[in-house]
Amino acid sequence: AKGLGRNTFSFYSTNLEQEASQRLKLEQDLRQAIETDQISIAYQPIIDAETQEVVYAEALCRWYDKDGHAVPPDVFIPVAEETRLINRLGQQLLAKVCKDIKVFVQQENAGYRKISVNISAVQLETPGFLKDVKRLLRTESIDSECLIFELTETSLMSDPDRSLKVMRKIRDLGIQIAIDDFGTGYSSLSYLKRYPVDILKIDREFVRDIEVDKQDKAFIKAIVSMAKVLDITVVAEGVETQKQARALTKMGCDYLQGYLFGKPGALQNKKPASAENKSA
Ligand code: C2E
Ligand code: CA
Ligand code: CA
Ligand code: CA
Repeated sequence: AKGLGRNTFSFYSTNLEQEASQRLKLEQDLRQAIETDQISIAYQPIIDAETQEVVYAEALCRWYDKDGHAVPPDVFIPVAEETRLINRLGQQLLAKVCKDIKVFVQQENAGYRKISVNISAVQLETPGFLKDVKRLLRTESIDSECLIFELTETSLMSDPDRSLKVMRKIRDLGIQIAIDDFGTGYSSLSYLKRYPVDILKIDREFVRDIEVDKQDKAFIKAIVSMAKVLDITVVAEGVETQKQARALTKMGCDYLQGYLFGKPGALQNKKPASAENKSA
């Protein structure tokens, strides 16, 4: 029995040790990737449901480790948040976005009106965050109207009063506010009236089964009618099929985002054909 106990113990301790060392390695690799500026951005188009035109793009970070394997943001963003590395990473990404805004948003024949950026709760809570944003906009000569900040519903709910103050400051800067993953948190629709919100992004979870799930459908309809009253733009996330796109458009969603219209990738400008011929 004694021997079995020892074996059992060593079995579990090995797993725990493995987990801890894997986590430590991820953290070290992430720290190095940030220090050496290895994390890049892929952009996903957001389209107007009526005209099917691209209106803006969402910036999503991408990390390929030393072996060239993609590490998903769902894996490393939580680690970046726990270690507060997200502050530096976030600023780095925002700087890259500003460079791209100069080319793809602020230039003539630009393909996009705005770029949206995911901002984590840790960043919002860090003193000096908005000061850094302001400085970046100034040094890069970026019009704040070219930016949207995506904040998740759950991140705002941890300290609603503080969140409200930060959101007002973001708005005062001229940056629009989108609520990400809407519907997955605990908040009620009523807080939308109190909070400065420009865009609501309905989570993919509600879009997925829209054709079969009556509750999801009713939920989206309720959000859309509420948003119309409050003059908030509604984006549906994770649109993968034409059927979903048609249903969401019929329900009154303003914008659509998903693999149907484009996976995250490089930005492209809408250059007129003549300009393309000249440069060729
Ligand atoms: P999110 O902000 O909700 O981003 C949307 C996610 O859905 C992206 O995953 C995107 O690639 C994926 N997606 C888009 N269309 C479809 C579709 O039609 N079907 C399916 N199945 N998926 C679709 P990604 O890039 O892996 O990002 C995951 C999450 O990581 C993001 O969710 C966001 O919470 C976080 N994240 C990504 N980039 C950043 C960043 O720069 N900063 C912060 N703070 N978080 C980020
Ligand atoms: Ca987002
Ligand atoms: Ca989302
Ligand atoms: Ca999400």
